Amino acid sequence: MKKIVVLGAGYASLAFLKNLDLEALGDYEILLISRYDYHYTSILLHEVATGARRDARIYLTDILPHKIKIIQDEVLEIKEDKVLAKKQSYDYDYLVVGLGFQSDSFGIAGIKEYATPIVDFENALKLREKIYLQIEKYKKTKDYKDLKFVVCGGGFSGIETITSLAINLKKFCVEQGVDSTLLQFVCIEAMPDILPMFSAKLVQKTKKFLKTENVELATGCKILRCEEGRVIVQRNDKEEAIEAGLIIWTAGVKGNAVIENSSFFTSGRSKVEVDTYLRPYNQENQDKMQNIYIIGDCAALKDVESGRFYPPTAQIAIKQGEYLAKAFKNRILGVGVEAFNYISEGTVCSLGEECAIGNVKGMDISGKIAIFIKRMIEKKWLYKILGIRGIFR
Ligand SMILES: Cc1cc2nc3c(=O)[nH]c(=O)nc-3n(C[C@H](O)[C@H](O)[C@H](O)COP(=O)(O)OP(=O)(O)OC[C@H]3O[C@@H](n4cnc5c(N)ncnc54)[C@H](O)[C@@H]3O)c2cc1C
Repeated sequence: MKKIVVLGAGYASLAFLKNLDLEALGDYEILLISRYDYHYTSILLHEVATGARRDARIYLTDILPHKIKIIQDEVLEIKEDKVLAKKQSYDYDYLVVGLGFQSDSFGIAGIKEYATPIVDFENALKLREKIYLQIEKYKKTKDYKDLKFVVCGGGFSGIETITSLAINLKKFCVEQGVDSTLLQFVCIEAMPDILPMFSAKLVQKTKKFLKTENVELATGCKILRCEEGRVIVQRNDKEEAIEAGLIIWTAGVKGNAVIENSSFFTSGRSKVEVDTYLRPYNQENQDKMQNIYIIGDCAALKDVESGRFYPPTAQIAIKQGEYLAKAFKNRILGVGVEAFNYISEGTVCSLGEECAIGNVKGMDISGKIAIFIKRMIEKKWLYKILGIRGIFR
């Protein structure tokens, strides 16, 4: 019996498994190995951290059919013929790697020690605890610095995080009897402006929104290091310190640590370059990788037109998983397999839970309509993995 082993239970892997034609695969054994026994919707992790939502988990047994064996284990390394994990090792005939992303500190000193990233559900919960602890701390110390929250990164997830934080923490302070006007929020960005993926008009709207929510933008500030309670930046050729009660790191992500720990792969930024069939490419061990596929944030795929790598998104991860499921079936049936072709449908960035900005199918959108579309995108994913039950979650 041939064995398909799938690593990780994120968007890419689940899109693959949900679209696999299990009948066509006959007596193939299918294993899903993931760290947790649930899938978490990574695009909502910042809302978990800021207290805007309680949960973002769906148990794998609610998503997947019995034929797929779910194994909760932590993958450590991928080798030519097996996967090494904490509990045991697993051999495979076909391997699909969908292990997702990790935070990237770019080697900046003090990030790991003094800043908290948003990477998975457990970590988002821990961040929420840290945020609430700051309020508790302030009640005792009456030190305004305890109410100062600094988000490093003015990209997509940085802006989603700081807007949600500013709105929800004000509500929490009111509940806790703390004067919410004392809260301070700073978003640090190295570039001269925020959100490079959006038009100047949408960026202006976002800045106006940030102002109304009392979020200070520190653009043109290159982060040099983090220390306890402060971020040291270089602004206009001068070093300065930005004080912080809590530092949140959203300035960069890379592929998974398992990739960089697997000498079998040639990797860069913990990702494996893939060809348009999502197979490892430009690899020293290329000839030994005929049955390996890398999808989602662990894969570095070039847009043939621009020659640039696609940015890591849930959208491309889902499309890759869906494509691979079809390609698997065609290979088994001996039908020709087409190359993966990706056209982005656009991006929507939430500004809190009631407003957003975005570009969808080439059109700029903002406000209530944009957040409505964002919620529809989230529902569409839940529908894909849970069917009608997903709509009512
Ligand atoms: C705050 C935030 C907001 C975002 N918003 C958007 C958005 O609006 N739109 C969008 O398109 N993208 C967004 N993204 C990016 C998006 O979340 C990722 O691109 C997407 O999750 C990648 O999907 P994936 O399947 O590759 O990995 P993931 O969804 O991250 O899944 C990885 C899986 O692998 C498992 N895993 C990891 N390591 C191990 C291990 N060693 N052993 C076993 N299992 C392991 C994890 O538990 C998880 O199940 C956002 C990201 C963040 C952090």
